[in-house]
Amino acid sequence: QTQEVSQARIDYHVALQALQEHGTRMVCTGKMHTDRICRFDYLCYCSEADEFVFLHSNSSVMVPNLGSRRFQPALLDLSSVEDHNTQYFNFLELPTAALKFMPKPVFVPDVTLILNRFNPDNLMHVFHDDLLPAYYTMKQYLDLDDEARLVFMEGWSEGPHFDLYRLLSNKQPLLKEQLKNFGKLMCFTKSYVGLSKMTTWYQYGFVQPQGPKANILVSGNEIRQFASALMEKMNISRQDRAHKDGSAEEEKETEKEDEYIVVFSRSTTRLILNEAELIMALVQEFQIKVVTVSLEEQSFPSIIQVISGASMLVSMHGAQLVTALFLPRGAVVVELFPFGVNPEQYTPYKTLASLPGMDVHYLSWRNTEEENTVTHPHRPWEQGGIAHLEKEEQERILASKDVPRHLCCRNPEWLFRIYQDTKVDIPSFLEVLREGMKSKPNFKKTKAASVVHPGRVREAQCQTSVQTTNEAKLTVSWLIPWNLKYLKVREVKYEVWIQEQGENTYMPYILSQQNYTFSENIKPFTTYLVWVRCIFNKSLLGPFADVLMCRT
Ligand code: UDP
Repeated sequence: QTQEVSQARIDYHVALQALQEHGTRMVCTGKMHTDRICRFDYLCYCSEADEFVFLHSNSSVMVPNLGSRRFQPALLDLSSVEDHNTQYFNFLELPTAALKFMPKPVFVPDVTLILNRFNPDNLMHVFHDDLLPAYYTMKQYLDLDDEARLVFMEGWSEGPHFDLYRLLSNKQPLLKEQLKNFGKLMCFTKSYVGLSKMTTWYQYGFVQPQGPKANILVSGNEIRQFASALMEKMNISRQDRAHKDGSAEEEKETEKEDEYIVVFSRSTTRLILNEAELIMALVQEFQIKVVTVSLEEQSFPSIIQVISGASMLVSMHGAQLVTALFLPRGAVVVELFPFGVNPEQYTPYKTLASLPGMDVHYLSWRNTEEENTVTHPHRPWEQGGIAHLEKEEQERILASKDVPRHLCCRNPEWLFRIYQDTKVDIPSFLEVLREGMKSKPNFKKTKAASVVHPGRVREAQCQTSVQTTNEAKLTVSWLIPWNLKYLKVREVKYEVWIQEQGENTYMPYILSQQNYTFSENIKPFTTYLVWVRCIFNKSLLGPFADVLMCRT
């Protein structure tokens, strides 16, 4: 049976017949174009027209069948960047009868993932917009396995980080420009179109100033799993100091000895002008080794090898800081910002480090001394040059000490300031480190079990009694959540909400025991609605049990 199926996949006449008989079939997830991923049988692409083609037959399906709403504005986003009007996907329609007049189709037998890379030249975009979303889209659909084919439709060439895209599957990814080599009409036997946005944490400021996404759905755990999978593909092993043998004393000794700080330096723009001095200061302050890495000098895998064992990563703001996702738990990131740039307004790396369970401590330093900045007004505009602007505008920018909030991507004042070189003021830098290290939590203590949420409390019930004409009692009791008996939890508390029926406020109580008699503010001959839930370690909330109706 299996044999037959796999042969059928590559048998040209069988494939052609299937296409002619059944046409294209599409079934999608997602109610909106922004959360949609579609699976196709026999989606075709015409390189001449640069259009995807859906072939209608009596047995073709299209779910959702949107009619012309498919163009309002699109069927789906082809990149992970939400609702970007240069990243929309749609297809043209033809009846299968038209195949007679068209070039002979070439079939792609591999299960294919079709997507747009958003900005493959920039490392932050590569990881955040493409690699993580593609990795987890592939985890969502089992047939997108190691043998899946990726097709990048944004139209760019390979770019500097293509080796990273190659790690996603064993097959060479295809670029749009290569598709024409396959003939005028290509048909993907099985394909998925679009990317999951579940793992993205940042919006770049196309409609409102940049910042963390409103509803972040990823935790450090998923980021680390992805990082480990990528490292395995790169043949890098994590140098995990925590799991070394030996006595506690010995461990402490070797720990300190093995520890090091990484300074990620940029060599062409946004320079640290006194890097040597900065490194000396770090060595002095922490009494451990400091190593530098740069994308210009090392291979990416060798950089990741170093970062994955570092206790601190120091770098100027910039895409190279996305490599913080390879840091071990408990590490520290120190991000440096040029003069006039407010660290609170540019937080892709802060947001990454602060994802729940990421367990990376984030600090930022900002140059506040104008004499320590070197500007580049005569460079091209995309590197922050301002010479092309009107005189008044140039003067306004030069006089301003803070870049006001702005939208992506060509704000000249922002580009001017962010592309400055900086002489880091060592005393204020060390001050940031000393202050920031005081508030560093002890991440090593947090274990995997500390992310387990309580179940509902069971068999919740209430008993009531009337004392006098204006006094009553309400006793609520319940059993522990089912999962608690298998867990070691430091602190178990219960939250009880009591609401008088018809009122829109409630009284909340936090209790340690499994029953309690309320008498304050409880009136006779009144109906109360009572909710009970369990809380582990102050912050892990369980669900409320079904509401109790308690009549006094
Ligand atoms: N880059 C680099 N060294 C430099 C300047 C840039 O390695 O001196 C890399 C950077 O990490 C990013 C790409 O080049 O992947 C584009 O850098 P750009 O400054 O345009 O973007 P940003 O770092 O601000 O996101």
